[in-house]
Amino acid sequence: MSPYRQNLITRLNLLLAFAQRLDLNQLSNGQWEKLRKDLVYIVYDRKKVTAADRNFMKIGSILEARGPLLDAVNDLHSGGAADLHLGQQDVIISAPEGKPFSYSYLPADLTTALWGSLAYLLDKAEIGREDLLECANPTCQLPYVKESANPMHSGRIFIPARRPSKVVYLESGETRIPQSKRAFCSQRCARIVAVRDYRARLRGDAQKHETVKEKERKRGKQRYRKKVLKK
Ligand SMILES: [Zn+2]
Repeated sequence: MSPYRQNLITRLNLLLAFAQRLDLNQLSNGQWEKLRKDLVYIVYDRKKVTAADRNFMKIGSILEARGPLLDAVNDLHSGGAADLHLGQQDVIISAPEGKPFSYSYLPADLTTALWGSLAYLLDKAEIGREDLLECANPTCQLPYVKESANPMHSGRIFIPARRPSKVVYLESGETRIPQSKRAFCSQRCARIVAVRDYRARLRGDAQKHETVKEKERKRGKQRYRKKVLKK
């Protein structure tokens, strides 16, 4: 992947992760600062947080922007359109020598900045609905969400760095990503599921072992009986 596209995907994933955060009411100051850093990177493609950014990204504004963003992400994932109202903003067109014109928006409020960024980044990264995957760890968002709390999905929606190559189409019309091609939103989720699978396999093996032993015992008994009866 080109560094340009990688940058867009990284920023999009940060934005998707922000929209799906359910722990905003229990963040420490350090976590707020880390979140601001992500938001600055999403909107301005810059890593340093300035005093002006802190002023622009007040906690109230961050909280306000998140809910509708989440609705938009869910709508896009399920195939509906997302309708987000933008406030006032300027568009800055730059004219670098030897390069194509480029533009960026300068929004007057954070909500407009984030909603505009979602549209801009999805467009620039040439993302389609099939690129919005759901994390294959069903307990991805625990402890914040119980599995049944969201009937639509329990794993986080994200964009994989690489597309899973093979998708299986079931007769029911459903699509299923084969076990080896499952996609995870993070290393953490991949690890959790790997451990869970490993334990299940161990349990399965132990059970198989027991059944084999049981069969052997029965066979042994039969052989013994035959021997005894012959006599
Ligand atoms: Zn996950």
